Amino acid sequence: MSETSRKRVLLAKPRGYCAGVDRAVQTVEESLKLYGAPIYVRKQIVHNKHVVTSLEAKGAIFVEENEEVPEGATVIFSAHGVAPTVHESAKARNLRAIDATCPLVTKVHHEARRFAAEDYDILLIGHEGHEEVIGTAGEAPAHVQLVDGPDGVDKVTVRDPSKVVWLSQTTLSVDETMETVARLKTKLPLLVSPPSDDICYATSNRQHVVKEIAPECDVVIVVGSTNSSNSVRLVEVALQYGARAGHLVDFAHEIRDEWLSGATTVGLTSGASVPDDLVMDVLTHLAARGFGDVEEILTAEERLTFSLPQELKRDMKKAA
Ligand code: SF4
Repeated sequence: MSETSRKRVLLAKPRGYCAGVDRAVQTVEESLKLYGAPIYVRKQIVHNKHVVTSLEAKGAIFVEENEEVPEGATVIFSAHGVAPTVHESAKARNLRAIDATCPLVTKVHHEARRFAAEDYDILLIGHEGHEEVIGTAGEAPAHVQLVDGPDGVDKVTVRDPSKVVWLSQTTLSVDETMETVARLKTKLPLLVSPPSDDICYATSNRQHVVKEIAPECDVVIVVGSTNSSNSVRLVEVALQYGARAGHLVDFAHEIRDEWLSGATTVGLTSGASVPDDLVMDVLTHLAARGFGDVEEILTAEERLTFSLPQELKRDMKKAA
């Protein structure tokens, strides 16, 4: 067998768009069709450069806060969720607000509200400053304490060790979160776990398949943006599970030839906010460099879909 013919790509599946991202992007697209441009979107609708630029080209305007949206205009809240104060400020500005928060993030908000109502201390495992964490903590600021990974456990103090629950951001590393929880349980043996997993199916599935392929890979390429938590985690997981190198790229042209030098097996995946055409561009790029043999490694089927936000569906029905 020649050197070239031995070169191969292990293409991870599931990869790319999850149900929450698909719904959020469709929410912006359908709103543009229904209400016309411009449509304001608070924060990046999903954490992906390409998606944001494409929606801007169609008439979406991305802002940081409601205060930047003209009174009475339409604003969409991103998939990562918002604190109740954001809904209030939209109301105060008379904005037509459409909430594209992923239903799996909304589930964590409900848990935060429920445990706060029962006067629990809530230990929210997540990354400081991430929009999702800000939104979830905003549901019960007086009850929530952020635990940013295993090293954050030492700083935790609670009012009553028998009334503490942990919740988490949906896009964390499954392994690291379990380590954080184990340390928390050593410190707080009566710690209550959330009723169901907060790390979402898409995050776990994408990490699981990377764990399968990483040991065989010289390099794993993850398509995704640097501010995408689940994409960054995929590079970390690849390295932890045996890939010799791992790189995050937004676009195929960012792949450097030296990353491929001496490699025979390249792993390829993408974060939950990445459209698959960007992955196909990477396959074309790799094929041009001798990696034309592609094997898709499937570890789970995903069939979950979410319907559009109620407020948008209602207006679409009226307009039909
Ligand atoms: Fe929802 Fe998970 Fe996708 Fe985030 S990564 S939008 S929580 S399905």
